[in-house]
Amino acid sequence: MFKRHKLWSTVAAAIALTLAVPTAMAETEAPISAEQKQPADTKVAADRYLKEHAKQYQLKADLSDLKYVTTIQTDAGHYVRYQQIVNNAPVFNRQVTVTLDRSFHNPLVISGYEPYTTVQQVSQLLPPGDLKAKALQFVGDQAQGEWAPSSEEYGYTIQKGVATPTYRVVVHSKAPYGAWETYIHAGSGELLRKRNLNQRVNGTGKVFLPNPVESQGSVGNLKDNNDQDSPELTKQLKSVTLQGLDGSGYLRGQYVYINSAAKTYSAANQFNYTRSNDSFEDVMAYYHIDTLQRYLQQLGFKNVNNRAIKVNVNASPDDNSYYQPSTGELTFGTGGVDDAEDAGVIAHEYGHAIQDNQVPGFGDSHEGGSMGEGFGDFLGATYEDATSSTSFGKACVAEWDATSYSSSNPPCLRRLDVNKVYPRDLQNEVHADGEIWSQGLYDMAQAFGRDVATKIIIQAHFSLTPTATFKDGAKAIKQADLQLYGGQHAGDIDRIWKARGIPTS
Ligand SMILES: [Zn+2]
Repeated sequence: MFKRHKLWSTVAAAIALTLAVPTAMAETEAPISAEQKQPADTKVAADRYLKEHAKQYQLKADLSDLKYVTTIQTDAGHYVRYQQIVNNAPVFNRQVTVTLDRSFHNPLVISGYEPYTTVQQVSQLLPPGDLKAKALQFVGDQAQGEWAPSSEEYGYTIQKGVATPTYRVVVHSKAPYGAWETYIHAGSGELLRKRNLNQRVNGTGKVFLPNPVESQGSVGNLKDNNDQDSPELTKQLKSVTLQGLDGSGYLRGQYVYINSAAKTYSAANQFNYTRSNDSFEDVMAYYHIDTLQRYLQQLGFKNVNNRAIKVNVNASPDDNSYYQPSTGELTFGTGGVDDAEDAGVIAHEYGHAIQDNQVPGFGDSHEGGSMGEGFGDFLGATYEDATSSTSFGKACVAEWDATSYSSSNPPCLRRLDVNKVYPRDLQNEVHADGEIWSQGLYDMAQAFGRDVATKIIIQAHFSLTPTATFKDGAKAIKQADLQLYGGQHAGDIDRIWKARGIPTS
């Protein structure tokens, strides 16, 4: 966290706003001569009108802190633009325009002028060489660097009526990906304001929703066949909207940054591939993670893993995928069915990122690790249920991925209804023991609905520690229900966890 230094003197010269008494009001003044329409005349007319109405727009009577910028002449009228200044430096983005019609009648003033009472003095300005690093620190991951050069400008912002020396620094950060405008106090280095300049755009793409087995409602003829296309698999593609893209043509956006997307590019943001194309998995990862983050926000969680998570798709030849806490990145493997062809796997891994974000270091105990796996399976199974057009594969996660290694029907990476009981069925393996935990969570979703259950469960994570136990987790769930719903679901929560052998108090 940035440490605040106070280098500037807070005693500053007071600037009295001497306000002019208008000599004439708009209704009574004589029209400005329409004979001449030169820019100079236009500016004289605009100056005169502003001076006469200075009080109304809270301007200085002599307009001494407005710097003339341009006059634009069109057939339909004239536009004079001014920039607010302090000590001959701009007050960023604070401008005034005067619109005059062709005969200089009916002036219109649009004023962004911001009055102030004092000008703050700074005894020592920040060295310009420090600005880029500071700005990158304020917007995200400094270590990732920039994708385009930064720029900086000295001026002022008005902070609570005080004209404050400020640097405007524009940086192009890689993580989160974007172009950011930051306003940094020129003395203290404090961040005053930041704004993402990137315009968000929506694109389109084709995905499995959530995977081809579940959307078809059976395994049927669906086979990996070494990542080849088949008519049956192509038939399961659904067109979706890809939200929040940054407009670069890559799969980079508000909540997801596809790291392997250099090959996945569309200037028109159209990402329509079949599953044999490696770019298909990039689209899958972008769409499903973005959708999950938006779902969390819709539930009211604005601060849970709310960042553009970097995702490395098809980046490992293993039939394995993982979340890496040390880098905050997700990686999906290509062994068997490509892992990112199944939204159940994608959601499971994103579950680890969510928990690590809520409880840094989560899962530093066997039961904590098992809760992590169980939560991922819960997130995957409920996401599959919510997005599937069939009811196939209830209480089962990653039916398509599992065709590579399971001959059950449906094939499941894991199930959420095998009735394991704590501590009797412990196998001392986090994925297996996670089935104890995932079933409790999944039963909550069956009893209260996905939204209520997810809300309680996410809320409960905030209470946990890296070494939390099943019992800690169940107690936190009961507490979260108390805080969110006044304990409305307490009886069902007790019953559900008792069936898993886990007390809630
Ligand atoms: Zn996992």
